[in-house]
Amino acid sequence: MKKKELTKEINLRINLNPNYAKRVHEYGFVELESSWGDEASIINNARVSVTDNRINSVSDITEREEKLLYHLLKNNHGTPFESLYFRFRVIAPIFVIRQWIRHRIASYNEFSQRYRTPMDMFYVPEDTDELIMTKDDQKEYIELLEKVYEYNKKALEKSYKRIQDIGVKFYPNPPYSGKNNQHKEYDEFVKPLRARAREIYRNVIPVAGYTDLYWTINFRSLTNFFNLRICPGHTQQEIMDYAIVMKEMCKLKYPILMNTYEKVKNEI
Ligand SMILES: Cc1cc2nc3c(=O)[nH]c(=O)nc-3n(C[C@H](O)[C@H](O)[C@H](O)COP(=O)(O)OP(=O)(O)OC[C@H]3O[C@@H](n4cnc5c(N)ncnc54)[C@H](O)[C@@H]3O)c2cc1C
Repeated sequence: MKKKELTKEINLRINLNPNYAKRVHEYGFVELESSWGDEASIINNARVSVTDNRINSVSDITEREEKLLYHLLKNNHGTPFESLYFRFRVIAPIFVIRQWIRHRIASYNEFSQRYRTPMDMFYVPEDTDELIMTKDDQKEYIELLEKVYEYNKKALEKSYKRIQDIGVKFYPNPPYSGKNNQHKEYDEFVKPLRARAREIYRNVIPVAGYTDLYWTINFRSLTNFFNLRICPGHTQQEIMDYAIVMKEMCKLKYPILMNTYEKVKNEI
């Protein structure tokens, strides 16, 4: 995906879902696309073992239910919190996602550089201390990464051209350009070779490059992510920047639950 297309896609999502779609750094993005369940489903899951006294919705929550939520969180009664699910879309540098995917109790669907060409952007630290990265160091960093992307682009173009030429030689009759480029045998010959070329040349893409994924996770596992990834002095800044934005989205959507979670966390 090109910078321009990505910017368009992100702006569209922010317009459609302004409270739950946010930019992170220059090219990054996170959106809470969907969630299933709420404080009421957590309460009902917890109560099944002792009573049929269900509540119908969050508006039925009284001080009694709030106390129950607190008790469950405080005493690590985890499974009721597995009844609330979230699906986020995350566009982030590969080095961030490399840490992210260590959170195994979740589901992932990631953008493939085998089927699509790599996103042509990379992470540049915004406010690096001059002791760590001077302006000159940053210039060199950007030049090096730009060269890598240029190499990937040119190598793929050369490879595609060779594949196209040999394809035309084997299958000389069908039309080869525009929308008519739909010949079955030709496609069957060309597509795997182009995929193989992307598969090989993607190897030069640095961990500063961007990727795009869907992340589906339950509340129990999500709080484990927040606990581990919002920990100043321990957590890498870039993943923490994402986690903070996501936590704010959760607070907006589930204020009772998130206030209780914060209360318990502050008592530890
Ligand atoms: C500051 C920081 C530094 C780190 N440094 C490193 C590092 O140098 N090298 C490195 O490899 N990783 C490192 N990690 C990753 C870390 O070890 C965890 O893999 C990661 O944080 C995911 O946590 P988790 O296992 O609790 O999450 P999940 O994988 O989502 O698991 C959630 C919970 O499920 C349970 N669980 C999941 N799988 C198993 C299992 N197989 N067996 C038993 N219980 C399981 C555990 O209770 C676990 O807490 C670091 C993490 C942080 C936050």
